[in-house]
Amino acid sequence: MSDPQHKPQPHSATLPELTDEERATYAWQLDLPGFGEDAQRRLKAATVLISRVGGLGGLVALQLAAAGVGRLILAHGGTLKPSDLNRQLLQTHDHLGKPRIENILRRLRELNPRIHLVGVQDNISDSNASALAQQADVIVDAAPLFEERLALNRASVQLKKPMVECAMYALEAHLTTFLPGRTGCLACLYPEPSPEWRRRFPVLGAVSGTVACMGAVEVVKIITGLAQPLAGTLLRMDLGSMRFERLTLRQRPGCSVCVPALTLTLTPTPTPTPTPAEAPPIVSTSKSKEYE
Ligand SMILES: [Zn+2]
Repeated sequence: MSDPQHKPQPHSATLPELTDEERATYAWQLDLPGFGEDAQRRLKAATVLISRVGGLGGLVALQLAAAGVGRLILAHGGTLKPSDLNRQLLQTHDHLGKPRIENILRRLRELNPRIHLVGVQDNISDSNASALAQQADVIVDAAPLFEERLALNRASVQLKKPMVECAMYALEAHLTTFLPGRTGCLACLYPEPSPEWRRRFPVLGAVSGTVACMGAVEVVKIITGLAQPLAGTLLRMDLGSMRFERLTLRQRPGCSVCVPALTLTLTPTPTPTPTPAEAPPIVSTSKSKEYE
């Protein structure tokens, strides 16, 4: 399907070179079939925006930092509370009462000092979503509130930025990737914030961490073309019964955010046979401007 925003990747000659230290650091993933040095250079050239860097987004950030994504923009407000510590694995007890983003940046720098980190001590809203999304090649939505998620979704669609959507509740988790121009969007599923949703909800850190690691795989696939992301498919995981289910997502007619198309339906789809690792990268990882 034609999608002018998802330009072919820049030629390898325009990607940043790897240093010998980077080759040593990423040696085990450079061995992945279909990956290699070209994919690693695409990760190095990429910028990823993560909305909320807590029990879910914090693990996405940790995995992407370890994998060598060159620039992470991390939006997370507030100060650390004791009740954060069952799941927000970038945090530490000695940081209680201090801004969460400070510890997030410190812990990620300790893991990978080679990458560039931009900390935003605020959560995503309509006032900052577009300015932050504009700088990213890929967006990760890991926010706990519908208002934040829908604000980021609007920016994703308007700017035609791929958005990896990670969500969980109790022992259930959802994962999909929205590709503007190719798939529906979050507002196709949730046109308005749910009135029943409460800020506090049951979370086991291992569940939020599970969907986080899978979301990080989606980001790597989008940037490198290592394999096909879950575009148009929602992966629903029940970690109680350990049942995983793939549901087809389609655009919802009348969606006020993305272009109306077909009727949204949720129907089980068979697990596809693995595809060769030859899918073209979806995003252009050209250098984006700095955010102050
Ligand atoms: Zn939509």
